[in-house]
Amino acid sequence: MIPHLRRITAVCAVLAAALTACGTTDGERPAPAVSPVSASPSSTRPPVLAPGPGGLTPVFEHGPRTRDKTVAFTFDADMTADQGPRAASGEHFDNPGLISALRALKVPATVFMTGRWADQYPAEARSLGHDPRFEVANHSWSHYAFTADCYGLPTVDADGMRADVERAYASLRTAGVPHAMPYFRFPGGCYDQRALRALSGLGVTAVQWDVVSGDAFATDADAVTRQVLDGVKPGSVVVMHCTRSAAPTTEQVVRTVVPELRRRGYRFVKVSELIGRSGGHR
Ligand SMILES: [Zn+2]
Repeated sequence: MIPHLRRITAVCAVLAAALTACGTTDGERPAPAVSPVSASPSSTRPPVLAPGPGGLTPVFEHGPRTRDKTVAFTFDADMTADQGPRAASGEHFDNPGLISALRALKVPATVFMTGRWADQYPAEARSLGHDPRFEVANHSWSHYAFTADCYGLPTVDADGMRADVERAYASLRTAGVPHAMPYFRFPGGCYDQRALRALSGLGVTAVQWDVVSGDAFATDADAVTRQVLDGVKPGSVVVMHCTRSAAPTTEQVVRTVVPELRRRGYRFVKVSELIGRSGGHR
């Protein structure tokens, strides 16, 4: 049921190591959201996967392995509940240069944004939310782990999981993201049956990946570039980060990888297109 936990170990371990190094939580807890998740009210509802048995939150990992070569780049806009003081002291959890590069290269992308990030960078969140090249999805509010054992990350109680996701949607709305997607990426990629059950009823599809870029805390852009180029297959979902301080090579990697993947015949799509082509329904 959780076939890819081993595959995500590397990125989780890196994230956890860094987060541990960053210090401990100040005990801030997600507050209950004031309103439920509202999927896009527009006429073109995003496709979602059907729930699993008992309404369990469905999990998406990659699109069809067809000859039509598509690849979806995803960027996690990480910011943890307790990182406000670091942002206030000048640490950059955003990455405007990366977003500019994606725009210049005309690469559509899906941004999994934490609510805490949207609270910190509302103008950037709004800009992404209004740019048809991007779709903005949910990466929790707190960026706390949704499993008991996620490489040392602080954890969200089962009782607080749904509220944390709803609080993130509320932050996105407040920042000015009008149509956040009904897609959720678990912090660290860590999930289990309990977490999938806790989010059932929200109508979200959990989105994992099949290609770990390795950009988290990387300093060697060439190594990340090779890892992406070696890993991408038709229908792949690549996980990268939109956080300068935690992923300083990502813009450079994108500028190198995009033309090469196009040379190999790949077309860049958003996660919603892959889900739609994988039997997702509206
Ligand atoms: Zn993350």
